[in-house]
Amino acid sequence: MDTKIRKLSYDGIDRKVIEEAGQILKSGGLVAFPTETVYGLGGDALNPASSGKIYAAKGRPSDNPLIVHIAERSALTQIAANISGKAERLMDAFWPGPLTLIFEKKPLVPDKTTGGLPTVAVRMPSDPIAEALIRAGGGFVAAPSANVSGRPSTTTAAHVAEDLNGRIEMILDGGQAVIGLESTIVDVSAEPPVILRPGAVTKSMLEREIGAVETDKAIIASDSGVRPKAPGMKYRHYAPKAGLTIVEGETERVVSAIRHLTEEAERAGKKVGIIAADETAFRYPAGLVQSLGARSREAEISAHLFEVLRRFDDTEVDCIYSEAFEDAGLGTAIMNRLLKAAGHQVLRV
Ligand code: AMP
Ligand code: MG
Repeated sequence: MDTKIRKLSYDGIDRKVIEEAGQILKSGGLVAFPTETVYGLGGDALNPASSGKIYAAKGRPSDNPLIVHIAERSALTQIAANISGKAERLMDAFWPGPLTLIFEKKPLVPDKTTGGLPTVAVRMPSDPIAEALIRAGGGFVAAPSANVSGRPSTTTAAHVAEDLNGRIEMILDGGQAVIGLESTIVDVSAEPPVILRPGAVTKSMLEREIGAVETDKAIIASDSGVRPKAPGMKYRHYAPKAGLTIVEGETERVVSAIRHLTEEAERAGKKVGIIAADETAFRYPAGLVQSLGARSREAEISAHLFEVLRRFDDTEVDCIYSEAFEDAGLGTAIMNRLLKAAGHQVLRV
């Protein structure tokens, strides 16, 4: 299949391109598109054949449900039942935006889209290209992250093409995704609501709106033995080809431990990658050093994490050491993705 790549500008989104992409969705095809979190791989959420194509294109296990993207609140009542007052408050506060909510599903949503679950995940993205595409595609777009299963999520159209060129009809190029990490997922069919995946909408932001929320134990657990409620969270994600170890502790100790480990590995003939921040990146004389950005600007770290993991796959490094990041606020989402990439391999120094 020949994948068309169409560049779009946010100052004046080309309607013709959006119409063309919308037609592809309506006729059962797949279109990758930018959102404020990461790129999504879109198909018609109400068409089981489209959902089937999404699983096939990604090589994604079909028990891992898809998030349904909508462009207006009125669409929600067609696909979700028993919408709680707390859910309404969260939507008032964070939609459109990087928050996915889990509801009881209505029969309109095919089982194929929800991986057989009686619940449906719904998000209303704020990205204007995403919004226009959802409207043009019929109003309900199923879209997981636009990467091959097991690889880091994609934050540019070029990354999408690396993974999915030839497997989907079209890629809409809207430049770099601003947040760079997938949406926060909150199960509002439970009481109290439960965070199933941390993201840019943090626990304290949620609690400010609705009071206490819980966090799924599988997210906090240091091993992967606890079964997560979001089926996708059980899979090893974002795994770089080289083994990744997170080094955690006081900054000076972390820097000296990574320097030491790098020297040792290089003496043994290995190539080493290092993931650092601007504040410390210049302190590693050996190894292939990549900075995620400044710790003082956490949003830079989240925006670059997947890109850096992806770039290490293009290099010949045998192992990667990463500095740890603070586990609070947006940092909770950053560490969650980093820990998954590392298969929970952490060295405390
Ligand atoms: P992705 O689209 O790649 O960001 O992955 C979507 C995530 O949402 C996966 O971790 C899914 O397991 C999770 N998810 C989707 N639908 C549901 C649902 N009904 N209940 C729980 N988790 C869900
Ligand atoms: Mg994904």
